[in-house]
Amino acid sequence: MSETNAFDNAIAQIENASGCCSNSDKKLIEILKFPQKIIEVSIPLRMDNGSIRVFTGFRVQHNNARGPYKGGVRFHPGVTLDEVKALSLWMSMKCAVVNIPYGGAKGGIIVDPKKLTGHELEHLTRGYVDKVFDFIGPIKDVPAPDVNTNAQTMAWIMDEYSLLSREHSPAVVTGKPVANEGSLGRDTATAMGGKHVLLEYLKAKGVNPKTMTVAVQGFGNAGYNIAKLLHDEGMSIVAIADSKGTVYNESGIDPMRALKYKEKHGSIKNLPDSVEIKSEEIFGLDCDVLIPAALENAIDHKIAKTVKAKIILELANGPITPEADIILKEKNITVIPDILANSGGVTVSYFEWVQNLSRDYWTLETVENKLREIMVNAFTDIYNFANRKKATMRSAAFALAMNRIIEATKNRGILS
Ligand code: GLU
Repeated sequence: MSETNAFDNAIAQIENASGCCSNSDKKLIEILKFPQKIIEVSIPLRMDNGSIRVFTGFRVQHNNARGPYKGGVRFHPGVTLDEVKALSLWMSMKCAVVNIPYGGAKGGIIVDPKKLTGHELEHLTRGYVDKVFDFIGPIKDVPAPDVNTNAQTMAWIMDEYSLLSREHSPAVVTGKPVANEGSLGRDTATAMGGKHVLLEYLKAKGVNPKTMTVAVQGFGNAGYNIAKLLHDEGMSIVAIADSKGTVYNESGIDPMRALKYKEKHGSIKNLPDSVEIKSEEIFGLDCDVLIPAALENAIDHKIAKTVKAKIILELANGPITPEADIILKEKNITVIPDILANSGGVTVSYFEWVQNLSRDYWTLETVENKLREIMVNAFTDIYNFANRKKATMRSAAFALAMNRIIEATKNRGILS
């Protein structure tokens, strides 16, 4: 078994948490180790130069006991079926952690979107929708943004689905532009949710946030926004990283300035007033909070040995391997797990979906207040559960989610 197979890792997380589940439920845990449906499609695309390329796409529907399948679609050259299976499982857990009425799914296309033109990307997205059309829908399976997809991608998904169904169907996808019935606050929701849980954790420990130094790995939507929000809270962002560069400044980096620089130069590499460090060095920096906000397996058992931060906030999905988890626990490092820390994104996706279906739109203030309430409640449940069971917050979050999914499954009944 390889340390970096995301699906094996997700199964290990389920097994590690099963000790915290209620006894009568244990038999049913087996069901959660299998996605309910795997869809694999080929998408032929005529490139702008006239050549034809065929792309592979997936949609994995993990579980829908608690509601329609829900989860993003990523465009990345490293997408694999096992990765999408893991991400779909994490979505089921995540939605159950924040107690929103969804199951879990995930989609992906094996493609480097940075090498495609806008026109090619639009047609690839529409081609994907054509292929998965029978499996998605407003009360069936609702996609959303993920790595390298954004509001524009979601607008194409909504348009293509609406064209094929001959109905205006905004609720088939979330994370749309606000002009296309997207929700206010969706773009910053993942980071905002992460901020709320981190602040709650610091409050529970009696720590003043303003004294905290933070390193953020990943400078996409989640990474940039968490850096900005924590900077606004008075924390010092001492290091940031994107896929091309990692920069450090012990007296702090202004995330907005870094974003402007990145927009101009394509990367934060060589950001003025900062020192360039190696990409893996960000994990071993002498700081208080480490935030992986990029891809899976960033912190494996080797990297875990180098971590000096006392708190890791997992804004990415699956950034810490189970082997690394063991080491971090021995080192007394607190991990605020992905299925809690990054669940603000799908929570505001849920708000967007409710607004689309009810045709009633909310103010930013309403969205932010409701998000804060859900995140604080989820954090409190998990923190108390972890303390009661003397478990990690990851196992507590998994156990709580598994109990909720299993209860819904039991009530519905099992076909056999
Ligand atoms: N892709 C995001 C995640 O991993 C959001 C999913 C959604 O909004 O459905 O949580």
